[in-house]
Amino acid sequence: MSYNINEKGYYGEFGGAYIPEMLYPNVEELRQNYLKIMAEPSFQEEFNALLKDYVGRPSPLYFAKRLSEKYNTKIYLKREDLNHTGAHKINNTIGQILMAKRLGKNRIIAETGAGQHGVATATVCALMGIECIVYMGEIDIARQAPNVARMKMLGATVVPALSGSRTLKDATNEAIRDWINNPVDTHYIIGSVVGPHPYPDMVAKFQAVVSEEIKRQLLEKEGTENPNYLVACVGGGSNAAGTYYHYLDNEAVNIIAIEAAGHGIDSGESAATSVLGKEGIIHGSKTLLMQTKDGQITEPYSISAGLDYPGVGPMHANLYKTGRAEFIAITDDDAMKAGLDLCKLEGIIPAIESSHALAVFEHKTFKPDDIVVLNLSGRGDKDLQNYIDYFKL
Ligand SMILES: *Cc1c(COP(=O)(O)O)cnc(C)c1O
Repeated sequence: MSYNINEKGYYGEFGGAYIPEMLYPNVEELRQNYLKIMAEPSFQEEFNALLKDYVGRPSPLYFAKRLSEKYNTKIYLKREDLNHTGAHKINNTIGQILMAKRLGKNRIIAETGAGQHGVATATVCALMGIECIVYMGEIDIARQAPNVARMKMLGATVVPALSGSRTLKDATNEAIRDWINNPVDTHYIIGSVVGPHPYPDMVAKFQAVVSEEIKRQLLEKEGTENPNYLVACVGGGSNAAGTYYHYLDNEAVNIIAIEAAGHGIDSGESAATSVLGKEGIIHGSKTLLMQTKDGQITEPYSISAGLDYPGVGPMHANLYKTGRAEFIAITDDDAMKAGLDLCKLEGIIPAIESSHALAVFEHKTFKPDDIVVLNLSGRGDKDLQNYIDYFKL
């Protein structure tokens, strides 16, 4: 059995492309071409050169000595926080902008909630001199002023979504409407391993550089490619997919996925999709999502903007369903504490998303000779105001 995608675009029973007919030509064009384009030597060359000289890859695999001493196990941090723009998202947007160019597209659209994916998209559009339109809920525009300013400085047009709850899902609807109206010249850059096939697979493959590097770096440091555990936080699931990718079918390596419990799983304010979710269709793919009895999507909650998503990508739904990955839900409070701990122990201020992953060490005991590789998906600069408010700094 493989935990990777099959020819039909499914991970087990999850995935597929459940899209309106008017979107079919766009998605089908991408589906027919993405693997071919990614395999071209010139694509690989350009992708790898940008990852190296623009993003700053490979990101270090750092042995966290004092954190390891505290928890009496061997902890390595994969330092995606050191990437250009401060997180893993840039790996995917670099890949997709190169894909868009080869498909002959000269206009990029994206949707963003907290603005992180919008900034990563605006960045690569500036890099390539391509027009960039980012849809964002009106409420989110007000909440995320610094990221809106960044996108504007990078030359993007930020278009407010004024319908519904005026947040992420409404921005997604606007982006889809735009794509239907502009099928020929426009590419839609999706920011996580979500959406209709082939997006989850394409994004996972762009992020897979993370596990490719972990294998090489761990071999050098520990004499083995295999850690005992891989740990990553899951919003939509792209940094986690990248961390797991080359280990998915290697069951000697245990996989841990961390979700956001918000104020607690039973509090009604949570984003713990695997526990609370049911099978359904969101953003064109069949997966697990939080929904009401009549199938309406439930508004998620997490202190971390990047984990505040009502679904998970189909890869993760399958990892949950098959038991290949262990899912742990971490509350706001436990994440914030783990984040501050990392600051004091290692001199690294993590993104609040990554802080959720770091809380695993308070929730699970590892053996002294276990090797645990944790993906530090991003840095905490963007979250400073949240840390200030929470800890009354
Ligand atoms: C966006 C984001 C996440 C969540 O997205 P995934 O697709 O689940 O990786 C996690 N960490 C950081 C730092 C982010 O910016």
